[in-house]
Amino acid sequence: MIDFEFVSASDMDGASRAASAATARFVAGGTTLIDLMRLDVERPARVVDINPLVHHDASLGAVSEMPGGGLRLGALARMSDVAWDARVRERYPLVSQSLLLAASGQVRNMATMGGNILQRTRCPYFRDVATACNKREPGSGCSAIVGYNRSHAVLGGSDHCIATHPSDLAVALAALDATVRVRHAGSAERAIPFTEFHLLPDAHPERETVLRPGDVIAAIEIPAVPYAKRSMYLKVRDRASFAFALASAAVALDLNGGTIREARVALGGVGTKPWRSHEAERALAGKPANGGTFRAAADAAMASARPYKDNAFKVELAKRTLVRALTELST
Ligand code: SF4
Repeated sequence: MIDFEFVSASDMDGASRAASAATARFVAGGTTLIDLMRLDVERPARVVDINPLVHHDASLGAVSEMPGGGLRLGALARMSDVAWDARVRERYPLVSQSLLLAASGQVRNMATMGGNILQRTRCPYFRDVATACNKREPGSGCSAIVGYNRSHAVLGGSDHCIATHPSDLAVALAALDATVRVRHAGSAERAIPFTEFHLLPDAHPERETVLRPGDVIAAIEIPAVPYAKRSMYLKVRDRASFAFALASAAVALDLNGGTIREARVALGGVGTKPWRSHEAERALAGKPANGGTFRAAADAAMASARPYKDNAFKVELAKRTLVRALTELST
């Protein structure tokens, strides 16, 4: 057990100031942080509870309409509530599916939107303090690159880290061009495009997002994408529930008869961050919606894959996952 200070935040600015040191952590659902504190991976000097913020601003815990038909997901909205929201299910089926295919019912009842996109990797070496891990202890080395790496990334890795990003929701949000709204005491609210929110590991895998100490996520905004009604999130994993993706595909298709006008594609389980594939989208746009087109898009999506000793199967698995999602959506 470690000693830490527990602070309950009553407003946004107070939460931001309370977490202005790099050794502070926010807690909301607690489904990642408490887990990692028990494992000794996270050792915060201060834990700032942001759950009370909803008493001052109910939108933080809700799904709200945006002008033009988009939806704003409050950072403290629970996974279950968002997944079953009728507007989310109708306008963005892939978001609802990505949430319902994640974790367990109990976890979904606790975990929040903000926490979901900030969840830490499930790399087993990251979670084992007896092993070297650049993400947990910068400069110590990467046990996965030389060790067992079946679950690791084939896209976006570096010589310092190949950990996959674990969030399903984040893959759907990357496909939809969502925006993360961030507040910081004394500053105007910032809008961060979702595809720029997470960082590639490069030489600093310990830095996972563009957030700075004291930044508080207020909401995630999803713009209107009318054809996202025809969308899906397909997840392939080792067991049917409570498992992370080996490969997943978030896909939306705008069809004109048998021709693809436009497409959105993002992949999960294979990248060091939620992996938007503009290469696949370009391979789909203007083409007939058939097996040949889908396979060409899948090849384009994985063209830069760099497999390791135990995860080469992911390259073909991700391609087949994407082809299956596109096939199901177009029939
Ligand atoms: Fe750590 Fe990343 Fe290597 Fe896993 S892959 S051991 S998280 S540095």
